[in-house]
Amino acid sequence: MTASHPGRPTPEVYAGVDIGGTTTQVVLCTADLAVVDSVEVPTPAARGGQAMIRAALDALGLLQGRVPSRLLGVGVGAAGVVDTRTGRILVASDSFTGWAGFPVTATIEKALGVPAFLDNDVNAFLRGEVSKGAVAGEPHVLGMTLGTGVGGALWMNGTLVEGPHGAAGEIGHIPGFGELPCTCGGRGHLETLASGRSIATRYGERTGRNLTAWGVAEAAVVGDADAIAVYEAAGAGIARALLITAGLVDLATFVIGGGVSRAWELLEPPILATLAAEPPVSGQPIRVVRARLGSGGVALGAASRARTELAAATPDQAATPVQRASSPPPRR
Ligand SMILES: [Zn+2]
Repeated sequence: MTASHPGRPTPEVYAGVDIGGTTTQVVLCTADLAVVDSVEVPTPAARGGQAMIRAALDALGLLQGRVPSRLLGVGVGAAGVVDTRTGRILVASDSFTGWAGFPVTATIEKALGVPAFLDNDVNAFLRGEVSKGAVAGEPHVLGMTLGTGVGGALWMNGTLVEGPHGAAGEIGHIPGFGELPCTCGGRGHLETLASGRSIATRYGERTGRNLTAWGVAEAAVVGDADAIAVYEAAGAGIARALLITAGLVDLATFVIGGGVSRAWELLEPPILATLAAEPPVSGQPIRVVRARLGSGGVALGAASRARTELAAATPDQAATPVQRASSPPPRR
């Protein structure tokens, strides 16, 4: 029994790790996913998988030094295509060296001696928002991230839907959104309208001016008609994607995050206008909310995956009151 001596017992914690192209975030949270401490370090993306995991483990070690605790498990959210069962990266963008094929969870488990779990970063984002964010407790949600690209993830009946090939919810890369070429090699995908890169490109095509997506948003706010048109096209495209999802799987709750969602006051009006013009056949009102957890959402969602997996793996232990007497029980 861990709490047999007087004084404060050592709290049990989960770690969440978000390995992005430029920064790696690590959070430590309690069993009910309250963040105890967090840290952000540069991702050594050019130095290979071993160096990237070493940076994450060093950051985690720093947190463990600051917060005396017993680590139960680690969740990792990573960009790219991942195999959630084997814990390996399958496909990584070319900003990462030696990352595709890297055994993420095996490397962490060997180093720390606790179970580790790997998720795609968009799936981890949605896990975070469903656990502690803008759609906390919702059983059916589509999550969308508007970043460099457009990502999507699907949560139904209180669990993440991965699909037989791990690509369920990939709303950014279905056709029907025009004719423009997409980064994936396809055409007319939502990403050609609504990603940060596309917003910058579409504005550049109209004006010859080279601005970031945020720069285009600033121009729209002061009345630049081309900038407003680019954001209106993005918002209308997003709404169409929500309507397709609503019609296909009868969802009514949507959460949108990523850097482009910072310009929510520009995106929300065209989203709501399109939804009002073409309501779903179910008659169910659609609720679209902006993500709440910000840049820490992926790490928190990764930690929530670890908590969910470990609670499912050890139901007897989780339910034993003696072992958990000193800390709050996991809330579901
Ligand atoms: Zn595409």
